[in-house]
Amino acid sequence: MIKKATIVATLGPSSNDENTVRAMVEAGMDVARLNFSHGTHDEHLARIHLVRHISEELQKPITILQDLQGPKLRVGNLPKEGVPLEAGQKIILAPTKSVHDMPNDQTITSIPMEVPNLVNSVAAGDRILLDDGLLELTTLKVGDDFIEAEVVLGGVLKSHKGVNLPGAALEIPALTKKDLKDLEFGLKSNIDAVAISFVQSADDIVRLRSAMQRLNPAKTNTPIIAKLERPRAMDNLESILEVADGVMVARGDLAVETSPSQVPIMQKRIIEAANQQAKIVITATQMLDSMIHNPRPTRAEASDVANAIFDGTDAVMLSGETAAGAYPVESVAMMSRIVKEAENNFPKWGQPQSQTHVSSMDDAVSITRAARELAQDRQVVCIAVFTQSGKTALLMSKARPPVPIIALTPEWRTYSRLGLYWGVTPFLVPYATSVESMLSHIEAALIANTELTPGQQVVVISGLPVGAMRPPNFTLLHTIGETLHP
Ligand code: PEP
Repeated sequence: MIKKATIVATLGPSSNDENTVRAMVEAGMDVARLNFSHGTHDEHLARIHLVRHISEELQKPITILQDLQGPKLRVGNLPKEGVPLEAGQKIILAPTKSVHDMPNDQTITSIPMEVPNLVNSVAAGDRILLDDGLLELTTLKVGDDFIEAEVVLGGVLKSHKGVNLPGAALEIPALTKKDLKDLEFGLKSNIDAVAISFVQSADDIVRLRSAMQRLNPAKTNTPIIAKLERPRAMDNLESILEVADGVMVARGDLAVETSPSQVPIMQKRIIEAANQQAKIVITATQMLDSMIHNPRPTRAEASDVANAIFDGTDAVMLSGETAAGAYPVESVAMMSRIVKEAENNFPKWGQPQSQTHVSSMDDAVSITRAARELAQDRQVVCIAVFTQSGKTALLMSKARPPVPIIALTPEWRTYSRLGLYWGVTPFLVPYATSVESMLSHIEAALIANTELTPGQQVVVISGLPVGAMRPPNFTLLHTIGETLHP
């Protein structure tokens, strides 16, 4: 049984060595995520070389996804033992100051905040969440350069813990100076796609695209995955999808900024909207979280992965499980098994796939639908897609055909990013300039790499004239071995 949804696995200290990464690829990892919230450029470069080396050795494209940290808001310096906060207590939040700088006789606790423009970002009544939402405050009053707040959920607050301001329209660019340096490094190192954190609106994506153009014009079209983790991003979901190449359901921060109870609904909404606009969707965070410490997941986690597949996600993601956990290979293998079981039962339990809006993609979407129908009617072995940019492979993938999609491309960069696409097996083939040469490349690749035999049928889609970068405009039923010349 082949797996169709793809697995994104985060690389980190637990998955730095060649044998582990090779075993992860063999267990079903399709995409390597490099988390730029941690690690140096040298460490990431070593991972990039390792992934490329294993990909070449195993003849399997592994897409490299660079995940930019974004404007992470944090608490400033506090005493090592932390500061205890009790429910009902009134406190002051002051930008940049350290509690060490506060006068000793101060009767009200002050917490330093590394949050640019804090006082312009919250209003009286707004919630402020600290340490992944473990501590909660309510804003009482906004002063010129401080905020007075009341503790709702108490606990011990330590230095540099994360700050979330749910619902606030943050006057902070989604790309920090660090992100721009990381982006420049990533593009130079040939990463395949970039994820941008804490997106609020489509403008954030447009700014990232222009930064790519400025920093490395040849890489301007590198796919962008918008991480949806703020309520404002949910308000702007449709416009973000219009400009991004894909989205990530970043359930960690999304749960903190909204409520865990809303996450399942937002996940379904995001997956449906992404499928309608033919954009990649990755479901992320805590999917097999207990496998950070245990060799087996909880039943709830197994159900969570299967339900993301039933919702129609393209990809499922592992974070701490593979980056810092004790069982990185087992986590990928377990995820792969759950995905395959779910896919096997998709016809009974899966959501009918929301169709891509035809108006948004015109002829190309109709061609992929025709190919799917033809594949079903004639019970073909696979659908072969000849693609230069990868766009046709994506549209074919979004049509969710019942047979494997074989994507053949002469472009290495396209080949390398196809690891992310649902149900697509990519091959590198020579350039073709006629239908005949394209078909003979397809036949050669299929016969060498699959169990296809002469006489079996495949559906082929591509654009005519062959070689022109254009959306698909024909679909063809081809019998393997049938003469290509009159
Ligand atoms: C998330 O919040 O779920 C997420 C994927 O973001 P981060 O990279 O901060 O873990």
